[in-house]
Amino acid sequence: MKKFLILMIIITLLTGCSQEEKVVSIIEDDKSMIAVNYPVTSNNVLNDAISAYVNKIYQEFKAKESNYQKPELNISYTYKELNKNIICVSLSTEIYTDKEVNKIKTFTFDKKAGKFLTMEDIVEDLDALDYDIKKLLLEKYREADMDFLSNVNYDYFTIDNENLTLYFSPVELKQKNSEIIYLDIPLNSLKLLIDIDKEKDEDIYLDIKKKNIDYNEKVVALTFDDGPSKYTKGILDILKKHGVCATFFVVGNKTEFYQTELQRMLKEGSEIGNHSYSHKWLNRLSEAEFKNEVNKTQEAVKKITGYTPTLFRPTYGGYSDKLKSYTDLKFILWDVDSEDWKVKNTKKILNNIFKTVKDESIILMHDNHDYATKALDEVITKLKEEGYQFVTVSELLEIQNLREN
Ligand code: ZN
Repeated sequence: MKKFLILMIIITLLTGCSQEEKVVSIIEDDKSMIAVNYPVTSNNVLNDAISAYVNKIYQEFKAKESNYQKPELNISYTYKELNKNIICVSLSTEIYTDKEVNKIKTFTFDKKAGKFLTMEDIVEDLDALDYDIKKLLLEKYREADMDFLSNVNYDYFTIDNENLTLYFSPVELKQKNSEIIYLDIPLNSLKLLIDIDKEKDEDIYLDIKKKNIDYNEKVVALTFDDGPSKYTKGILDILKKHGVCATFFVVGNKTEFYQTELQRMLKEGSEIGNHSYSHKWLNRLSEAEFKNEVNKTQEAVKKITGYTPTLFRPTYGGYSDKLKSYTDLKFILWDVDSEDWKVKNTKKILNNIFKTVKDESIILMHDNHDYATKALDEVITKLKEEGYQFVTVSELLEIQNLREN
């Protein structure tokens, strides 16, 4: 009973503090590398189920993290509104400790009916589908566990505009590789019991604000990582108030929920850079996986703003020449670290910045918590007092170029 109570309190805290947040985002780089992102939907029953699931994994990982070298926990998600009532969320978990663990969990929730939907609620002729799927699985995975095949369950599935995707455990299909196995079934080959709204794609064109910069005078580039989040709006408001710009290195899987913020960034003269799709530690990824992390964010930003980023900031500041060779994007690090997430205090943030800032500095801050928001007004005021002009990272690179020639 006591254990249950503690769990309930943790769950309430998690959901309670995220009322206005559209994505819960926990990014830590301390004992281990942790990037946990999951959506907060318009339905609390669904939210409770999602946060309880994530919280359990997070707590279990935290309890064990110190036993390993370079442990990593990454939880990323997909979110899709199939129509005005049905929401489809998937959570994929990767854990690296002494071994690699991959898990998937999916939720399809009908807000009107107030219940989670199963495949029976969605596909009309499940028997026919079941036959086809088993045939496909057996063809592809000949060593598959026969017990598993005869009782295949369809607990894990997602739906988008094109496919019904089914997920299976690699263990049960007797695969050595630990990656989750999935099958895409085209929707036009199925009879569905639900309606799916088709998305309309609109092209967006934004006027990007022009600035007058004297490139003989001191310049500095503020950069914000790990957003967008509910704090991004506040950061944009402060930048606007001072008439300055920054560069936002966004995590792709959150962008859909902060479309207005992303559009504002460009309209108000700031720049958007790419900070991967789900904030994994990149050195662990294959070429294809890395490209996927980069390209999905490129596409997400383009879809929302019409703009395609040209800059990339590696997660946890870690990368190799090999990774660099996989993309045309410019890798951008920083020379001034505000350590905002660590010191959590305006005075210390100011100290960290002003002890190292110089002409052409790139300052690292974060827009996924409010420490940077609280300090930003003073940071900008002081930098202005010291004669700095604010530029985006791309503008900084241009200025460096002009100065060299
Ligand atoms: Zn980051």
